[in-house]
Amino acid sequence: MSEITDIFETLEYGPAPEATGPVDAWLDRHDRRFSHWIGGEWRAPSGGDRFETANPASGRSLAAVAQGGEADVDAAVAAARAAQPAWRALSGHARARYLYAIARRLQRDARFFAVLETLDNGKPIREARDVDVPLVARHFYHHAGWAQLLSAELPGQVPVGVVGQIIPWNFPLLMLAWKVAPALAAGNTVVLKPAEFTSLTALAFAELTKAVGLPDGVCNVVTGDGRTGAALAAHPDVNKIAFTGSTEVGRILREATAGSGKKLSLELGGKSPFLVYEDADLDSVVEGVVDAIWFNQGQVCCAGSRILAQEGIADRLVEKLKARMETLRIGDPLDKAVDIGAIVAPVQLERIRTLVEKGREEGAELWQPSWSCPEEGWFYPPTLLTRVEPASTVARVEIFGPVVTLMTFRTPAESVELANDTRYGLAASIWTENINLALDVAPKVKAGTVWINCTNLFDAASGFGGYRESGFGREGGLEGMWEYVRPAWEEYASEAPPAVTRAAPPPGEGGEAGVVAGAIPAAEEEDDAATPDVPPVDRTAKMYVGGKQARPDAPYTIEVRAPDGSLVGEVGRGNGKDIRNAVEAARRAQPKWAAATAHNRAQVLYYLAENLAPRGAELAARIDAMTGGGRAAAEAEVEASLARLFLYAGLADKWDGRVHHTPFRNVTLAMPEPLGVIGAACPTEAPLLGFVSTVIPAVAMGNAVVAVPSERWPLAATDLYQVLDTSDLPGGVVNIVTGGRDELAQVLAAHDDVDGVWYFGTREGSAAVERLSVGNLKRTWTDLGRPRDWHDPVQGEGDEFLRRCTQVKNVWVPYGE
Ligand code: NAD
Ligand code: MN
Repeated sequence: MSEITDIFETLEYGPAPEATGPVDAWLDRHDRRFSHWIGGEWRAPSGGDRFETANPASGRSLAAVAQGGEADVDAAVAAARAAQPAWRALSGHARARYLYAIARRLQRDARFFAVLETLDNGKPIREARDVDVPLVARHFYHHAGWAQLLSAELPGQVPVGVVGQIIPWNFPLLMLAWKVAPALAAGNTVVLKPAEFTSLTALAFAELTKAVGLPDGVCNVVTGDGRTGAALAAHPDVNKIAFTGSTEVGRILREATAGSGKKLSLELGGKSPFLVYEDADLDSVVEGVVDAIWFNQGQVCCAGSRILAQEGIADRLVEKLKARMETLRIGDPLDKAVDIGAIVAPVQLERIRTLVEKGREEGAELWQPSWSCPEEGWFYPPTLLTRVEPASTVARVEIFGPVVTLMTFRTPAESVELANDTRYGLAASIWTENINLALDVAPKVKAGTVWINCTNLFDAASGFGGYRESGFGREGGLEGMWEYVRPAWEEYASEAPPAVTRAAPPPGEGGEAGVVAGAIPAAEEEDDAATPDVPPVDRTAKMYVGGKQARPDAPYTIEVRAPDGSLVGEVGRGNGKDIRNAVEAARRAQPKWAAATAHNRAQVLYYLAENLAPRGAELAARIDAMTGGGRAAAEAEVEASLARLFLYAGLADKWDGRVHHTPFRNVTLAMPEPLGVIGAACPTEAPLLGFVSTVIPAVAMGNAVVAVPSERWPLAATDLYQVLDTSDLPGGVVNIVTGGRDELAQVLAAHDDVDGVWYFGTREGSAAVERLSVGNLKRTWTDLGRPRDWHDPVQGEGDEFLRRCTQVKNVWVPYGE
């Protein structure tokens, strides 16, 4: 009797563990010893090495999995390559049927997968069962649709080919789904490398693909640790790497793939702000924090790990939070009533402990519930750190554990500043009952996903991915599909010889190509060079920075010569200082330009065209004088440039976002936002059209640009200064630095205040840009020396240019009471 009254008094739960029978039977059927899944069958590791994967809740081994070496990766890539043509050749409908069958089967086996995931990862069964596995099935259903719709929705695109996919341990099966579903939908074949702590659900999934009859080799799984991942990334026959994991490894992959032509998407870490304003509903906020940082033990890339609370309510929030933390249940993840499971591995547990210790040393106040964690297994209690400074380690470094920091702010402006005071930009959560405030803050926070009065919501229809050092590329929805295709025309162009590269040294000139000391206007030759229509060489064209002509930092010039060797003019040879000045000007100008309405930006572009038109004959003469391509061709280039200005003026207010149908009571606004400051190394050929084609789309979308015009024929761009001056283009939105393309592109690529670099030049130049972009993980778009016909509307203009200078922010706005 007294026991029952006790239970009523304390309302304690009894244990309610999920049964593991079917999973145990599956493990036993494999003798708890797994191989790689290659070409539709189990393949023993070439070196014979295996390692144990453990159950974090007990620390005990579940099974041995194979350590993939180079030979295994080779075999898997070969299998994927062999399967690719037939998979690609299938109709979208046929691929849709496979994806649909996978989704159905996943639903049927949902309980099995949920239990296996919980055993291998340590996450509560409630989450594996109610979140992970349903989202996995949903992802395959959604992408069955993309397979079917591919040719209609992404016209002119082809699959990238063989995709290497490297995933982390926090959502093993869900990350598999995010990678595999879009890849297969688009007609790619894959080699997936799961994380070393959590390979089992991927191996079970491999068997599932066999059961639904997926052709052999379409989906391969090679297990192993970072070395296996590195071998996959380095493999020359892989066309794309898709990665989710730490920013540190993301950087390694950026460098490893630089110049290889491999497409790359990186979904990296975060330190996402959780913004609480004084009018927020604090009870909802508390439940939000539970979901933000104690979901999956805080091992979530988009975890709301930085609470920023408005001063007036901070104390009350802390009290409520502590009370709620006291009621959280930690323990056996298989127990259906458990809120917090185990940490994936001892190394991760140690990392959390070390960082929390560091936080205390730096002055943070630690609070944990009074109850204690299980003795067995790898557990860490929910933890609140207050008295944290914005500069302290725990406020800056991703802890990837159930640890949240709390800082305060006074005004919304200050909250935005604090929110953006991080190198990351994965997600943000905004809590206020004031919709105006929420929608004012949402665009100001630099993050790929913004949840308003909600957090950690995911759906296959919405893109997910980072700003800044949280990586690039999106997973999910239409945005995600773009990561797995490439323009069809590139396939045919890829074998052609590289385009014109560098200016040839002027005839008879020794030393460095095309460079002479002293900005001395050329003398006698100028008359030879001048045809009746071309102004004589009377000066060295300056740089254009912040809306003003600017003298180059160093007194060096580059001669611009006609094909017959005659001098057409001179430009300054820009250096790092010139680029840095231009970046500063661009940075100052960009926010205001982005805040201008799309209509305003369109008006400026029309005005540019209007002012350029009367200068058409003069520009054509200049182009002809430099290129020797003939007057007609030069006139056509001017005409094409005018048309392109009109095109982007027209698109400025039409290329917009979407509202995704995510299955919650909310709207998900997918808004393209400008990258910010873009460095653009313009193509050598088509000196005017190439310049317009690279600079104008970026400007149309609200970016500011630092452009390096055609290295060999820069005068078509420098002739535009007056046009730019008279067209209401705010100073600093377009900056022009003439000089050596590769040298200047590399300064831009290495510059930490540049958000993106476009480079049209050589393969080596592309490689250097990609390699140097690793500092702030800026977005790059390089041509690898592949020639592009700037006059061709398929190659020289359109959506791809706009996608490359924007990133999509998804804002989740719930509705209903
Ligand atoms: P990690 O980045 O090392 O591992 C992620 C994946 O990359 C794994 O499959 C791993 O085997 C593989 N990998 C490791 N080194 C590689 C290399 N050189 N080349 C190719 N692949 C390689 O992450 P981790 O060590 O498991 O965790 C460390 C920290 O990373 C965590 O504490 C957390 O901060 C962060 N993390 C973030 C995410 C996320 O979703 N953004 C996921 C896991 C971990
Ligand atoms: Mn494990």
